[in-house]
Amino acid sequence: MLDIFIIGAGPIGLACGLAAQKAGLSYMIVDKGALVNSLYNYPSTMTFFSTSEKLEIGGVPFVSNNVKPTRAEALEYYRRVTVSNKLPVKLFEEVKHIERVDENYTITTAKSTYRAKHIIIATGFYDIAVKLNVPGEDLPKVQHYYKDPHYFAMQKVLVVGASNSSVDVALETYRKGADVTMVVRGSEVSSRVKYWVRPDIINRIKEGSIKAYFNSSVKAIRNYEVDIETPEGLITIPNDFVMAMTGYKPNFSFLEKLGIKLSADEKLLPQYNAETMESANLPGVYLAGVVVGGMDTHLWFIENSRVHADMIIADIVKKG
Ligand code: FAD
Repeated sequence: MLDIFIIGAGPIGLACGLAAQKAGLSYMIVDKGALVNSLYNYPSTMTFFSTSEKLEIGGVPFVSNNVKPTRAEALEYYRRVTVSNKLPVKLFEEVKHIERVDENYTITTAKSTYRAKHIIIATGFYDIAVKLNVPGEDLPKVQHYYKDPHYFAMQKVLVVGASNSSVDVALETYRKGADVTMVVRGSEVSSRVKYWVRPDIINRIKEGSIKAYFNSSVKAIRNYEVDIETPEGLITIPNDFVMAMTGYKPNFSFLEKLGIKLSADEKLLPQYNAETMESANLPGVYLAGVVVGGMDTHLWFIENSRVHADMIIADIVKKG
């Protein structure tokens, strides 16, 4: 019987493990993928917008070469924190469901069964991409995750969106010789784009190196062309790849299967006590990290959600 079973070995699941360890509680962290799986799947050249000290967990210093760390440095940091603190982590083991039995929980994973008094759900939001819902979206040339620009050299790339991810893809692929067009629903590049990157994309668009259709949306995707609805009417342009950087969302059906209540509006906010992070309807089951934002994925980061770990462990300790 564990004191705590933690679902997700992302930065916040690991922070919960460290806090549990400090409090002398027994726990296990289980992830369906690699250690910090979401970070592993980020673009290989990615730089965080946070400075490294804001990504620290458990008070372990994060030293990076520059003020803002790279993905590679973050992978190194979270791996070192896990290994040096001997955190009990099981990887490539998906959690399937939980069941309340005699005031405790039985957790079933793809490999095994566990029993725990408390559960922390720290499953993030990076596993499910928000769809465009247009014909042709299932073609292999349409991608929601981006790794590396070289693949797109000398190709006609349509980037959907004007958020941080979209802008990074547009600039990087353009600089590796892709012919880049952006389709943006709004009238300008998002104000949330990293302040040192935003002028770059605005100037590339202004000078015509990157084409951009604002107040526009993709209507259909075919093997070698795409239809775009623009304020001037429907246009068709030649195309090799569509990078649909339209955001990600938590796995709501998994949360509902576990029994977590979601708000009735379109935000689908998991219902929890904001002081303790305990779920509103499952006693002893807590929510931690960016999963708590529902569809509002831009509100929560490692920076502001790492505190969940201490809040949850304090509540568990208080309840005895
Ligand atoms: P995650 O890191 O997503 O971890 C969730 C884990 O749960 C995953 O490893 C997943 O495999 C696992 N999991 C899910 N379902 C199951 C299951 N059923 N069974 C077992 N395991 C499961 N934040 C910042 O503070 N600063 C930044 O600069 C920053 N940059 C970002 C850049 C990008 C491109 C993105 C997408 C996000 C960025 N964020 C940033 C946000 C933040 O980094 C991530 O959202 C962060 O990963 C959140 O940590 P988490 O532990 O809550 O969730």
